[in-house]
Amino acid sequence: MSDDPPSKDDTEFATRAIHAGQRPDPETGAVMTPIYASSTFAQDGPGDHRGYEYSRTGNPTRTALEDNLASLEGGEYGRAFASGMAAINTVLNLLEAGDHVVVGEDVYGGTHRLFTEVYADYDLRFSFVDTTDPDAVAEAVTPATELLWIETPTNPLLQVIDLDAMAEVAEAADALLAVDNTFATPALQRPLEYGADIVAHSLTKYLGGHSDVVGGALITDDQELDERLGFYQNSVGATPDPFACFLVLRGTKTLPVRMERHSENARTLAAWLEDHPAIERVYYPGLESHPQHELAARQMDAFGGMVSFELDGSLEATERLVSGTEVFTLAESLGGVESLLEQPATMTHAAVPREQRLEAGVTDGLVRVSVGLEAIEDLRADLAGAIDAALDR
Ligand SMILES: *Cc1c(COP(=O)(O)O)cnc(C)c1O
Repeated sequence: MSDDPPSKDDTEFATRAIHAGQRPDPETGAVMTPIYASSTFAQDGPGDHRGYEYSRTGNPTRTALEDNLASLEGGEYGRAFASGMAAINTVLNLLEAGDHVVVGEDVYGGTHRLFTEVYADYDLRFSFVDTTDPDAVAEAVTPATELLWIETPTNPLLQVIDLDAMAEVAEAADALLAVDNTFATPALQRPLEYGADIVAHSLTKYLGGHSDVVGGALITDDQELDERLGFYQNSVGATPDPFACFLVLRGTKTLPVRMERHSENARTLAAWLEDHPAIERVYYPGLESHPQHELAARQMDAFGGMVSFELDGSLEATERLVSGTEVFTLAESLGGVESLLEQPATMTHAAVPREQRLEAGVTDGLVRVSVGLEAIEDLRADLAGAIDAALDR
């Protein structure tokens, strides 16, 4: 066996998911990367170390994860963080007072909060725009624009944003394009291929994949940018511990297999919901009725595990629906092996004023589902029963 882990160029995605960044431990032969639970590392002489000095700055378990994630996104450099928000925060650290950021209007709520309630106080300016409309994005650009921040598919309405078009706008504006790829994962979509400068992740979701760890990551192809991100990673110190890194590495090994089944289950469930008489509307990029279905088919290898739908019923009926399932668990978050559901109006989007929420399409009857890996028959029967009970049919 060679000493070097397979590089990003010479093996397929599923092989890299298991091997990239990892090799048997040179000391013991341990096949899995050990959890290097050490805060500090012995030096052979002052300043003469073997690549590691102190675990905030770098840790071998974290390096294995960072190299693995970089390889999966098709990038050269990966950085892991203590949470998705810590990763996103680090991108904002690149900016200076007075800089302007163009942001997708339905980005993750925590991202919205970080931008408007933390960084607005540091004199960064944000314009929230409909990123399904590249002209609107281009019009929002000002001479001070340094960053374009997008997510695709979006949450909870699963709109698909054209990565090629966003890269064009960012380039014309001489701004960085950062894409939060948490919903799609690199198994389905690799934004660097479309010209993104930075890919951000909440590892808490599909990459960890088992709802047992919180983490984040940034991946880039640009060495200078990576060095700046690394400076803030170390200076701010929101780094993950080696056990968290080990858990995420365990998750990424099965990412391609999980995403295939998540996508298959979600597509089956979405098609069934679309034909259900009590369901007014289904949002899933894999359905032909989805307004950006063709773009999604071009840009993504499969359509992912997130489905949203609108019950033809009141806020109260919808509360009964999400409280009435047995296989689906009522909870926020997503991306684990287990199916979850939630009501955005009363949960993830409760802080958004009702008028504004309705205008954005987040209606009282909207339900968001993270479709897990359980048997599809059980998932369908569970939702069917909860819908009937909610509507007293
Ligand atoms: C969960 C999530 C985040 C935040 O990640 P944490 O790990 O919870 O800090 C950011 N973006 C998206 C799209 C998410 O779903």
